[in-house]
Amino acid sequence: MSQGIQFDSVQMPEETEEMRRTVRDFLAAEIAAGNFEADGFGMTTHSPEFSQRCGRAGFIGMTWPTTYGGQERSFLERFVVTEEMLAVGAPVWAHWVADRQSGPVLIRYAKDEVRQDVLPRIVAGECYFCIGMSEPDSGSDLFSLRSTAKPVEGGWRVNGRKIWTSNAHRSHYMIALLRTSPATSENRRYGLTQFLIAMDSPGITIRPIRNLTGAHDFNEVTLDDVFVPDSHLIGEVDMASSQATNELAYERSGPERFLETLAVLKALIRVAGKNPDKRLSEGIGRLVAQLSTLRQMSVSVAGMLSAGKVPQVEAALVKDLGTNWEQSLPGEARNLVTNDSVDQEAFEAFEAILEQAILIAPKLTIQGGTREILRGIIARGLGLR
Ligand SMILES: Cc1cc2nc3c(=O)[nH]c(=O)nc-3n(C[C@H](O)[C@H](O)[C@H](O)COP(=O)(O)OP(=O)(O)OC[C@H]3O[C@@H](n4cnc5c(N)ncnc54)[C@H](O)[C@@H]3O)c2cc1C
Repeated sequence: MSQGIQFDSVQMPEETEEMRRTVRDFLAAEIAAGNFEADGFGMTTHSPEFSQRCGRAGFIGMTWPTTYGGQERSFLERFVVTEEMLAVGAPVWAHWVADRQSGPVLIRYAKDEVRQDVLPRIVAGECYFCIGMSEPDSGSDLFSLRSTAKPVEGGWRVNGRKIWTSNAHRSHYMIALLRTSPATSENRRYGLTQFLIAMDSPGITIRPIRNLTGAHDFNEVTLDDVFVPDSHLIGEVDMASSQATNELAYERSGPERFLETLAVLKALIRVAGKNPDKRLSEGIGRLVAQLSTLRQMSVSVAGMLSAGKVPQVEAALVKDLGTNWEQSLPGEARNLVTNDSVDQEAFEAFEAILEQAILIAPKLTIQGGTREILRGIIARGLGLR
């Protein structure tokens, strides 16, 4: 049955503009101090020092309850901080996953002793998380996963293998999705449970997998008789499928879904100079108009989340359109510029940015749910399947 697709018209309230000024001042001071190079690819730059400064400035866990170190600010204020960070390529990766999705999962489902212990450290920018969902034979179809957690005295014994685990080697914790019972013939989603696993637990082996750029971001993580205490059970035993799906909704709707390689558009505008020809002006105008539309849609999703709605289909639509737009951006930009029509030094800088973006682009439509899976969700939302 069709749920319909509804993007509410959302206006940014006054407090978000105040927050924008605050975060812009913070970022300008960071750039002036030489703490990071502006207009790079900050979403894949891991800087604990930067994350700790963000923590001190109050930019992590902004929407969380004050009991756990948060500020109970709105999703829209958080949206503004996120988009300003990404717009200048700030090195946000260390705290990214914990801030965006692991913290909210702990707030909703973890035991209070775990919340009290872990959340304030996330807010301080000192505690980093990785996502233990994918396995060698389970990616899109998470419900087929086979790594297990078996009850033992005082907790659980975990065995199995996770793959594509971003930042496992730099994280303090993983939120792992594990099989605690077999699926049933009536419900193949049954039998999965989420656990908080300390990454320094005995029995964990982390092996690097290099990506297309040659960087070590991904890993294969082997869990060999790892003991997880009962207190680290997250939510209900065997019933994690909806928890994990909710977690993915946090992952899908943010401005990172069209701003990860914004450096390309900025480099294009720089290389175009003050008097671009008609074709170049039109091309840039088209890209900016598309970006602006994506942003409006993403603001709308953030506004709906703020209002307590669950805009899963709309979030999937933003991710699908946003990641496809970003994936085509290097090619679009390259087609607009010919090296005899622009300043040569600016052209070389533009080419260097393009080179990196072309290597980053293929992953954009895979991470956080592939293009085909998202289109399946959208089709269901439209009542087409
Ligand atoms: C940069 C990056 C970072 C990642 N980080 C993490 C991480 O930190 N933690 C983590 O757990 N995972 C992570 N992943 C893994 C990611 O979630 C999976 O790669 C993704 O879910 C796809 O799973 P798969 O690779 O097993 O491909 P498969 O699921 O095997 O899919 C292969 C192809 O088949 C298509 N397909 C599959 N099922 C269907 C269907 N029902 N209908 C139509 N087409 C279908 C897919 O779209 C895809 O094109 C990361 C991936 C990337 C690229």
